[in-house]
Order: sequence, then structure tokens, then C-alpha cells
Amino acid sequence: MNQSDKIIGIDLGTTNSVLAVIQDGLPVLLPVNGERLLPSVVGIAPSGEVVVGTPARNQWVVAPERTVRSIKRKMGKAETVGMAGQTYTPQEISAFILKDMREAAQAVLGGDVRRAVITVPAYFNETQRQATLEAGEIAGLMVERIINEPTASALAYGYGLAGDQHLKVLVYDLGGGTFDVSIIELHSGVVDVLATAGDNLLGGDDFDERLAAMLADEFAEEHDIDLRQHHQAWARLLRAAEEAKIELSSAPFAEIKLEYILTRDRKGYPLHIQREVERSEFEELIADLLGRTITLVRKALEDAKLRPNDIERVLLVGGSTRIPAVWELIVAQMGQEPHIEIDPDAAVALGAAVQAGIIAGEEIDAILVDVTPYSLGIETAQVGYGGRLYADLFTPLVRRNTTVPVQKSQMFTTIVPGQEQIRINVYQGENPTASQNVLLGDFMIEGLKPNRADGLSEVTVNFQLDVNGILDVTVVERQSGKRVSEQLKASRQRLSPDDIARSQAKLAAAYTEMEADETFDPGVAALLDRARKTLEQPDLSAGLADDIAGAVANIRHAVAEEDDAQVEAYCDELIDLLMEVEG
Ligand code: ADP
Ligand code: MG
Repeated sequence: MNQSDKIIGIDLGTTNSVLAVIQDGLPVLLPVNGERLLPSVVGIAPSGEVVVGTPARNQWVVAPERTVRSIKRKMGKAETVGMAGQTYTPQEISAFILKDMREAAQAVLGGDVRRAVITVPAYFNETQRQATLEAGEIAGLMVERIINEPTASALAYGYGLAGDQHLKVLVYDLGGGTFDVSIIELHSGVVDVLATAGDNLLGGDDFDERLAAMLADEFAEEHDIDLRQHHQAWARLLRAAEEAKIELSSAPFAEIKLEYILTRDRKGYPLHIQREVERSEFEELIADLLGRTITLVRKALEDAKLRPNDIERVLLVGGSTRIPAVWELIVAQMGQEPHIEIDPDAAVALGAAVQAGIIAGEEIDAILVDVTPYSLGIETAQVGYGGRLYADLFTPLVRRNTTVPVQKSQMFTTIVPGQEQIRINVYQGENPTASQNVLLGDFMIEGLKPNRADGLSEVTVNFQLDVNGILDVTVVERQSGKRVSEQLKASRQRLSPDDIARSQAKLAAAYTEMEADETFDPGVAALLDRARKTLEQPDLSAGLADDIAGAVANIRHAVAEEDDAQVEAYCDELIDLLMEVEG
């Protein structure tokens, strides 16, 4: 294909904008101004030059009057914004961002790039969509199509590419400044938005602010100075809070260190901040905000008149979904594991590129991701009520289907006061009982020097898993910094998100099989056998696999309940599904 016919995919985000394109049949990100995620910030430098991205974001701290952020919130409004003494429409500000994206694409692809697919939130109205189109035009781009962000995310996962698929998908998108939840339905190439809910003023920025506010309060307590009144100090504090927040998504604690946060206090002395924040502490600070997102998830389900188990896929997108507590809340609310295989801040742009490729008539392969097919973790014990010891527990650090490479760490405490050594058993598997999983290796840490008041010590266990399945385990004693490292071999797998969904359905069916020990009527048994063989077919669509696994589970349940009418009804359903596969 002639490069100038290429259509680029653009996620024009409130916080970050991302560019993607199809290359060799696969959607890939193209960096803009050297950045994978281009901060959606535009500024005029003192030299008069227009700056977009991180330089503009940095400038915002020192010269907010020459800088514009979060322009997406104003798209479609008649307001203008001031920047370095000039006024601009929201379309014009967005066009500065789009222009840099277009130039970045031209530099990589060569030749003139004129066509784009741009994403917008599902709730954007006609005026807002029109404004987005105009922004593209100002930047010299013909906008071939505006697509909804949740639709783009589903496309990135390959859903809806095979025209026959019928899927209900819930997309939970928690970005920097906004939260959106959308329920969409894909069928025969059409995407229906069944419901949307969200909060236009809830996102990662709020989490940064909560953390910064906690530090500012502590600072005020100690020095009687409110850092919020000092523009630059507050901006630095917000930046440090964001860095710590990101660190806490993979580590149990993070250190915030700001030297000379104020160069002089009332007596002329410089002041600093140094503080360790624990993950649990941070999670508590934002618990109500995350709770609100779950309330909105429920509202979207209600509006769509669906229950959580009517949803066939849950996708997490937006950078803030990397916070581990989000994953846990979603599992609790939806009763299923959400998909996180595709980089949450890239998914929307990758999907825009897929749509662009479809329009341009390109061949597109499903995105392949390297994932860990099993959970990886360590054996732990816990003291329960009444001092009873529960041993042989499996605590996963890296969950199955996590994209590799990945690094996760967690803090553990010794059990017995004065304990000087710990044996670390590393397991791979899904069983909550550690010894039921596969032991990858074990090693000792010795010479611990407990110095907590209760005589216990804290250690951080860090798992680093590379694309080849090499697991580096590092254990660091918190107080002494004593470190032990081991290298182990874990399994790895290369799967498309659809393969993963299919494997999950198969696993679910296997579980119901294990639990059941009823005897079946020969007809039913033969049918179940046929279903099992069908589920093993590699080219079975994930949607059908799910439906079949569901029907099997229903039949087993009805047999156990001895409800013959139900058994018959579900068998009929299963027969229909199998006929559909066998065509
Ligand atoms: P938007 O769609 O609003 O443009 P993004 O999806 O790019 O935004 O999300 C940006 C937000 O994600 C920021 O608040 C950023 O701090 C947050 N973020 C990025 N990575 C992480 C992480 N590892 N843990 C927690 N938050 C993160
Ligand atoms: Mg976004």
C-alpha cells in the first residue's frame, strides 16, 4: 500500500494523546515528539515557539498563563481560552496536538499523511464530535471517521473483527481526569452503545491531589505553612505524588523526597519533605473515589437492564486502571476477571488504528501478547483469630494472563517474634493451597534482624518476569536492606486476547467438570462429551466457547438439582450451539 494512503489512528485524550498505525498487519504505537504518550498540553514558550507534550506540561508549572491543559473538556463549547495573550478556540488548541501527531506519522511513514480516525468518548454529542472533526481539519487531517473510545478498545482486543461474533462488553476507562464506563454490544459488524455513565471530573489527577493534600496537611502541622499557597511548591508536590502513585501500582511502598520544597521558612531555613507512603495508605486515601466508579458501573448496568453475568467481557483501559485496587473492585463487582492484556493507555489508540486499517482495506492480525499462563506467587501463612496458624496459603504476586515483562512487589511480615530466617517457596498455579501448585524453587533468607516493636520483620518480595519466562525473585529485608536473589524458570505463552478468553472459558468448563460426580443419562453424557471436544477446537470463537461452557454448566447444575425440564431445555440450547459450530 502506498504510504500516503495510510490512515492513522488517534486517541485524543484529556490527559494524554496517543498515535497508532497498522504496520505489517499489526496495530503499533508511533511515538510523537519522542513520547509514547503525548501529554495533551499546549504552550507558547518564552521564545514564542509552540510547544506540545512534556515541555508544555513542565512549562505549566512556571507559566500557566502561557499553557493550556485538558482542552478536551471544552470541545464543542463556544468558550475560548487564553494562551500567551492570544485567544484560541478549543479546536485550535487540539489542532496543535494533532499537527504534531501528523508530523510524527509523516516522519516515520514517509510522504504526506492526510487521513485519520479519531476517537471520542461515547457520550460526546454531535457538537463535540463536530468540533473534533474541525480540529482535525485545522491540522490538515481529513477525519475519515470519529469512533467511540469503548468501541476502539474492543477493536484493539480483536472483538467484532469476525463479523459473526455477538458480544456484550463493559469498558471501564479510568484516565487522568475522567472516568467513563460504557456497555457496548457487538454483532454482525455493528456496535451498539447500550449504556454509558461516568464522571467528567474524576481520575488520576484526583488521586495525585489526595496524596499531595495529605503531605501538605502533615507539612502544615509541622511547620505551620500551607504549601497550597505556594504555587510552585504545590505543583512539585503534585508531580511527586503522581510519581509515587505510579510506583505504588507495582511496589508496596514509595518514597517521596522533595528537597528545598521551600527555600526558606519564617526563620530563613530551607524545608524539605521526605516521607514513605504505603500502598494500603494510598488505597485508603482514594477508596471513596474508586467506590464512586463502582457505583457508576452499577448505574450503567441498570440503565442497560443487565446483570454483571450478562457481560461477556470486561475491559480495563486508561492509565489509572493499573492501580491494583481497581482490579480487585472490578472482580468483586462483576464476578469475573477483567481483561488487562493490552496496555491500558494504548488500547484506545490501537483500536483507532484497527478501524483505520479496516477503512483503508488492510489485512489486520489480532494483537499478540506475551502473557504468563499461570499465576506466580509464594507460600505464606497467616495467624487467624484465636492465634490459629493457617499455613500453606498461596499468595500470587503476578496473576495469570498478565502481560510480560512485568514487575510486582509486595510486603510480607514474619510470623514469630524474633524470627531470624524465612524460607521462600515460589509456586506457579491457581490453587489457593500453595502445595497444590507447581513448586518453581525455594530458598532461605537468614540473619534477619527484627527491629519492629513487636519483634517481627518486614520483607519486600519482588518478582520480575521477562518475556522469556525467566523469573527473578528478590527479597529485601526492609530494615537492614539485606538482599537475596534467585533466578527461576516459569512458563510463558504467546496468545491473542481472544485465545485467552477461549482458554478461560475452557478452564471454567473444566472446573464444573471436576466438581460434578453425578451420573448422567447416556444421551446427556454423549452430548457433554461432544461439547468437550468442541471446546478443544482451536478455531472456535471465544463468544461461542463461552456460550457452550455456560450451557454445559447449566446442564450439570440442572442434573444435580434433578430438574428434568431444565436439563432438557439446556440440552436443546447446547445442541443448537453445537450445530452452529458444526455448521
Ligand atoms: P486520558 O485518557 O485521560 O488522556 P490516560 O489513560 O493516559 O488518560 O491516563 C492518565 C492517568 O493514568 C494519569 O493520571 C496517570 O498518572 C495515570 N497512570 C499512568 N500509569 C499509572 C500507573 N502505573 N498507576 C497508576 N496510575 C497511572
Ligand atoms: Mg483516554
